[in-house]
Amino acid sequence: MLTRTVFRPRILNFNRLLHSSSRINRQLFDPSTVERVSEDVDVCIVGAGPAGLSTAIRLKQLEQKLGKEFRVVVLEKGAEVGSHILSGAVIEPRALDELLPDWALRDDHPLTQSATSSHMRFLTKSLSIPIPHPPQMSNQGNYIVSLSRFAAWLGNIAEEMGVEVYPGFAGAGVVYADDGSVAGVRTNEVGLDRLGCMKESFEPGMEFRAKVTLIAEGAHGSIAKELIQNFDLRRNSDPQTYGIGLKEVWRVDPTQYRPGEVVHTMGWPLDFRTYGGGWVYHMADGLVSLGLVIGLDYANPYLSPYKEFQRMKHHPYFAQLLSGNSTRVAYGGRSLNEGGLQSVPQLYFPGGALVGCSAGFVNIAKIKGTHNAMKSGMLAAEAAAAVLSQDSSSGPADMSKYETALKNSWVWSDLNEVRNLRESFNTPLGIWGGIMYSGIDSLLLKGRTPWTFRNRARLTDAQHTQPAYRFRPINYPPPQPPLSTDLLTSLTLTGTNHAEEQPVHLRVRKDGIEDTTLRKLHVQRNVSEYAGLLQRACPAGVYEYIEDETAADGWNGHKLVINSQNCIHCKLCDIKVPTQDITWTVPEGGGGPKYSEYLLLIVSAGMVHLILSLSSHYLTVYDSAV
Ligand SMILES: Cc1cc2nc3c(=O)[nH]c(=O)nc-3n(C[C@H](O)[C@H](O)[C@H](O)COP(=O)(O)OP(=O)(O)OC[C@H]3O[C@@H](n4cnc5c(N)ncnc54)[C@H](O)[C@@H]3O)c2cc1C
Ligand code: SF4
Repeated sequence: MLTRTVFRPRILNFNRLLHSSSRINRQLFDPSTVERVSEDVDVCIVGAGPAGLSTAIRLKQLEQKLGKEFRVVVLEKGAEVGSHILSGAVIEPRALDELLPDWALRDDHPLTQSATSSHMRFLTKSLSIPIPHPPQMSNQGNYIVSLSRFAAWLGNIAEEMGVEVYPGFAGAGVVYADDGSVAGVRTNEVGLDRLGCMKESFEPGMEFRAKVTLIAEGAHGSIAKELIQNFDLRRNSDPQTYGIGLKEVWRVDPTQYRPGEVVHTMGWPLDFRTYGGGWVYHMADGLVSLGLVIGLDYANPYLSPYKEFQRMKHHPYFAQLLSGNSTRVAYGGRSLNEGGLQSVPQLYFPGGALVGCSAGFVNIAKIKGTHNAMKSGMLAAEAAAAVLSQDSSSGPADMSKYETALKNSWVWSDLNEVRNLRESFNTPLGIWGGIMYSGIDSLLLKGRTPWTFRNRARLTDAQHTQPAYRFRPINYPPPQPPLSTDLLTSLTLTGTNHAEEQPVHLRVRKDGIEDTTLRKLHVQRNVSEYAGLLQRACPAGVYEYIEDETAADGWNGHKLVINSQNCIHCKLCDIKVPTQDITWTVPEGGGGPKYSEYLLLIVSAGMVHLILSLSSHYLTVYDSAV
C-alpha cells in the first residue's frame, strides 16, 4: 500500500521550507497572497478510483510502447487509495481484461469471487416474489468485489509502473492559464482553523501544473462541477441525475451464506412514486453486501433514505438473510450517476478532460459503472499520450480525440442500448409506466428504437422536490437492533473522521456569495417549504435545523447546524438541496470515511474467525479421538 513516507518527502520538504513559520500563525489566510510550490508534470489525474488509476496505468503502458517518459501524478483525497470508495460491487471484467490481460495470474488480485447466480425479486411488505430479470442484469462472467480493495490493488500496480500516487491530497481548485485554459490543479490548504486563520501546522496547497489535466473524481466531483459550469460542457446534454446508494456489509450466519449469489429487489419499502431498488451480493470471506439505491428525483421531502434502508432489513427476506449469528460490520453511502447517455457532457475542455463517473458512464439498468469508467480512462490516456507526443508549443492540450474514441467504443453502445430505461420512469405514466416500458425495451427492443427520451424541461433532482404541504410526514418505525439501528450508531462503522478545528467544508454558498442573508434565506425556505429536507436526506446526520427562540427576524425560529465532521462525502446535499445553495468543497486531505480500513479489519477478523474455527475443529477431532 502506498504510504505518505514513500510518496511525499519532496513535496513536504518544499512546504516546510517556505511556509512553516510562526510569523503567520493565527493570521487570516488570504489565498490571493499565498506563495505556492509548483510542480510541473505531464499528466495530473484527480481521483484514484478505477477511472483515474486505469488512466495512469494505460499512460505508463504507452510510455513503454512509445519509448517516451511521462510524469504522471494521481491525487486522492482519501487517506489511502480506496478509502473513499464505497461500492461492494459486481463488476464486468471487460475493461480489466483489456488493461491487464494477465490479471488473473497476479497472486494478489481481489477478484476472488465470481458471480454464480443472479435473481430479481419484487417485494411487497411481506412477500418476496421472484421475477424474471432483464438480460442486461445477467452476471455470468462477472465478479463480486470490494471496489475499495480493487482500487487499492490498481493503485499498487500503478505505483509499481512509476505513477506518483498521492493519497491524502485533495484537488481543491483549478489552476487556469492566462488564456483561460486549464493548466493543472491545486491541492488544499492544511492547518487552517474554523475561522480560516493559519495554525502553527499551516501548509498552503501546492500547484500541479500539467500539460494534460484529467478529472476522475467520481459522481458529482467538486472540480468537475466547476469545469462543467465554466466551460458550459453540458450545453448539448441533459442535466445529470443521481441516486443515493446506502450500503452495509454483514458477516452472515454460515447457513445464510451463498457465495457468488447476486440478488436485486424492486418494490417495498419504496412507494410507487419513488425510483429505486435493493441489492444483496454474497461476496468472498463470508461477507454480504446489501443496500438500497433511491433515485434523487424523489418528490417527498419527508423521505429519509437512511430509514427506508433500515426498514428494508425488516422485510422477511432480509430478516431471514441476517438472522442467526450475523453481524453488521460496515455502513456507508455515496451518490451515483443515473442520467446515462443523454446526460454525458462534452468530455473535453482546453487542457484536459473528464473521465469515469466525473462524466457519468453508469449503466443504471445493470447498476454498473466500473467497466465503463475504466475504459473511458484508458481511452483518455491514449488521447493524452498522443497530445504529449506532439509539439508542446501548440497551445493547451486538445483532448477532443478522446471524446471521438469514446463515442466509437463499446462504452457508448453499452449506454446506448439502455438509454431509455431510466428516463421512461419520468413520463406521465410514472413508475408503473417505467416498469412496463423498460421491461419491453430491455427484453425485446434492446434500444433499437428511433426515439430517445430526453429531459426536455431540464429538471434537476433538486427541482423534482415538492413542497412539504403536499405530503404527510412518513411515520418510520423506531430502530430495532441488531437488524436496524439509529444513524449515529451506523456512522461509527464508516470510520469517518475530519481533523478538528478546520473550516466547515460544506458551504452555504450560491453564485459565489456566502453571507448571513443567504444563510437566513436557506433556513427560512428549507424549514418552512421543505420541512428541513437535509436533516432527513443526509445519510450521516450532518444537517440539523434546530429550534432557536433567539432566531427571529427571518430565521423562522431555527438555526442551521452543520456537523461537518460526520460527512461521508456522498455529495447528496449538494445535489438535492431544493434551494441549491449548499456547496460541497474538499476538506483537509485524508479526512472522510475509511471504507478500506474497515474492510481490511473485516477481512482480518475473517482470518481470525477462520483460524479459530479451524483450531476448534482440530481440537474437536482431537477430543473425540481421545
Ligand atoms: C452504492 C453504489 C453501488 C454501485 N454498484 C456498482 C456495481 O455493482 N458494479 C459497478 O460496476 N459499479 C457500481 N457502482 C458504480 C461504481 O462505483 C462507479 O461507476 C465507479 O466507482 C466509477 O469509478 P470512478 O473512478 O469514476 O469514480 P470513483 O470510484 O468514485 O473514484 C473517484 C475517486 O476520486 C477521489 N476524489 C474525488 N474528488 C477528489 C478530489 N477533488 N481530489 C482528490 N481525490 C478526489 C475519491 O475519493 C475516489 O477515490 C456503484 C456505485 C454506488 C454508489
Ligand atoms: S453532508 Fe452532504 S456530502 Fe456529507 S454525508 Fe451529508 S449529504 Fe453526504
